[in-house]
Amino acid sequence: MKEDYYEILGISKSATAAEIKKAYRKKALQYHPDKNPGDSSAEEKFKKSAEAYEILSDADKKARYDQFGHSAFEGGGGGGFGGGGMNMDDIFSQFGDIFGGGFGGGGFGGFGGGGGQRRVKGSNLRIRVSLTLDEIANGVEKKVKVKRKVQAEGVTYKTCSTCNGRGQVTKIQNTILGRMQTAAVCSTCGGSGQILDGKPGDSDAQGLKVVEETVSINIPAGVEEGMQLKVPNKGNDAPGNGVPGDLLVAIETQEHSTLKREGDNLHYDLYVSISEAVLGTSKEIDAVGGKVRIKLEAGIQSGKILRLRGKGITSLNGYGAGDILVHVNVWTPKELNKEQKEFFEKMQGNDNFEPKPEKSDKSFFEKVKDMFS
Ligand SMILES: [Zn+2]
Repeated sequence: MKEDYYEILGISKSATAAEIKKAYRKKALQYHPDKNPGDSSAEEKFKKSAEAYEILSDADKKARYDQFGHSAFEGGGGGGFGGGGMNMDDIFSQFGDIFGGGFGGGGFGGFGGGGGQRRVKGSNLRIRVSLTLDEIANGVEKKVKVKRKVQAEGVTYKTCSTCNGRGQVTKIQNTILGRMQTAAVCSTCGGSGQILDGKPGDSDAQGLKVVEETVSINIPAGVEEGMQLKVPNKGNDAPGNGVPGDLLVAIETQEHSTLKREGDNLHYDLYVSISEAVLGTSKEIDAVGGKVRIKLEAGIQSGKILRLRGKGITSLNGYGAGDILVHVNVWTPKELNKEQKEFFEKMQGNDNFEPKPEKSDKSFFEKVKDMFS
């Protein structure tokens, strides 16, 4: 059972955006890894608070959470927002500003933990990619333009004199238990052990400059709205000997005009006239990547569901594909001319027109049950 996000932050459901932010800042500072070195329960609370804040600080996600609880963010499989928890890099790159200047290594975003010099990680970049149903159904390669910070040419570094390249500094503190020695990340170099020595004029204070780069993203079939993909090393470069951050891609899905998605299955509402239902017909329907023609037997009943196996969305986990479920609706005319009216009046009481549901003509509810069994 996941903890309630409001309880994690210690606020009521009616808290304002400012109150939510304030509550998160308080928790983040209390459980910050720099303040609780080696304390895994503090780290856990730090991550939980960030996850709660990520959801509650976003009006859309907050509304979904208020309505559906944690289930609104589960079932992603691909690591949906909040689903699998957040890692430290995400937290610092996303909410780093909330800590003010004193924490999180300035704009670097990385937190390596452990002792000694660390490889500072560049901050992550976030983009949204909007996909059509056809693109989702079979997967797609998307090329996107990303503005990322890269190390400017001609930048040089030297060993940090504060920590002598060790990346951390030791502090002696007087506590009730006596003098304690604690290690902290060097604030001069952010833990990398190096600081900027010389830089060209077109770079920023960290020796980075912004370039536009085309990044190709392989999007697997079957992704869903709100999922997040990671393209490693396509975020911002880190200064010095660090590693680049990641490009985090949030998936948005566009609605199809006729096909409605449900998991890997697609639903299609087909309308036929009474005469088509009586005499049988063939109809073209929308499918993934184009149209398909299906045959309707003479005497088909309204409410019948035709299943086109494997014509749905390719499963994200790689096990086959869903189906297209064609719901047959017989359209009853609202207006008739004299001749038509006479015909139907003549058919009243005619044995062929009397409903005779068979065992195989299952009720709507039975069909729905079958579909999910
Ligand atoms: Zn240093």
